[in-house]
Amino acid sequence: MTRNTLLELRAPALIANARKARQLAGRAAMFAMVKANAYGHGLSWAASALRPEVDGFGVALMEEAQALREAGIKAPLLLVEGCFDQQELLAASAADIQLVVHSGWQIELLERTRLPAVVTVWLKVDSGMHRLGLPVHQCAAAIARLRALPQVRLAGVMSHFACADMPQDTQSAQQLASLRRLADAHGLAFSAANSAGLYRYPDSHGALVRPGIMLYGGSPLLNQSAASLGLAVTQRLSARLIAVNEVPAGDAVGYGATWRASRPSRIGVVAIGYGDGYPRHAPNGTPVAVNGIRTGLAGRVSMDMLTVDVTDIPAAEPGDEVELWGDLVSVDEVAAACGTISYELFCQVTPRVRRVVI
Ligand SMILES: *Cc1c(COP(=O)(O)O)cnc(C)c1O
Repeated sequence: MTRNTLLELRAPALIANARKARQLAGRAAMFAMVKANAYGHGLSWAASALRPEVDGFGVALMEEAQALREAGIKAPLLLVEGCFDQQELLAASAADIQLVVHSGWQIELLERTRLPAVVTVWLKVDSGMHRLGLPVHQCAAAIARLRALPQVRLAGVMSHFACADMPQDTQSAQQLASLRRLADAHGLAFSAANSAGLYRYPDSHGALVRPGIMLYGGSPLLNQSAASLGLAVTQRLSARLIAVNEVPAGDAVGYGATWRASRPSRIGVVAIGYGDGYPRHAPNGTPVAVNGIRTGLAGRVSMDMLTVDVTDIPAAEPGDEVELWGDLVSVDEVAAACGTISYELFCQVTPRVRRVVI
């Protein structure tokens, strides 16, 4: 018996989700966000599967953009935080990589660098999230400076929504209004929509939409499941039972004795832990499926193992399969139980989990 802790990755699901995004996007161009190793799915694998469905890709780092170029991806690429230094700027220009410009220092860098080729840039505007971007009142001057540079092609203004996933969102409308006002005033295109914006705000689509999580089958909306949004499951994390033990009523299981048997119990030991990227802070009761039957965690997650209650699954025995997330247990449910989001769970699966691609 090998350990068999597996991350199954499904290209057909990725493609189906990209087609869903494409339908929603209408005439807007669509760049698939593949930063952070394509949300943990594997950068070149995901980009190759998505390539026929999208107009380009968005990444956070130059290294990610270069990895895509080295994988033979010739599609437009966008660096969503722009360049970190002059060397990167030169490399981006040479490799035809589009840049976000979010700060005065990046404009200065463009002004004092002799570029080997024209570089396409998007001016990042802080429309209210107060993370990255120039404040709206500084944009007219920034646009004029960028337009004065012969080696710069200004593609448009870009912003990012802070609350588009939330049911009671009123901030996105304000952010969008200020971005659109700016775009109109300068005759520029705009880009605002992440996955949530793509679903909820058709008037945010502009020239370019930037879906991420929906491509990977995570729900972009807090109050709606991925299944109800028509998204397919792109990854399934599974492991095997390596032991099934009897625990008398009243005894506790695992580090810290956080779970105590309220009845004579059977506890399954599963060969996956936080060393594989399963979240250690997953509480008792976090859903799993043993042999296709849902049950929950019983006891704290260890580095290489976790324990589940199989008292009501009498057939469970060593070697049986346990789904941590995927088809029967959605990644969003696990994320909610852990007080986080699917994005983080996807990013945390460690290299020692064997990848199986479909
Ligand atoms: C990651 C990212 C997105 C995608 O967001 P999702 O919520 O995953 O759809 C869009 N735009 C920018 C700038 C990003 O960094």
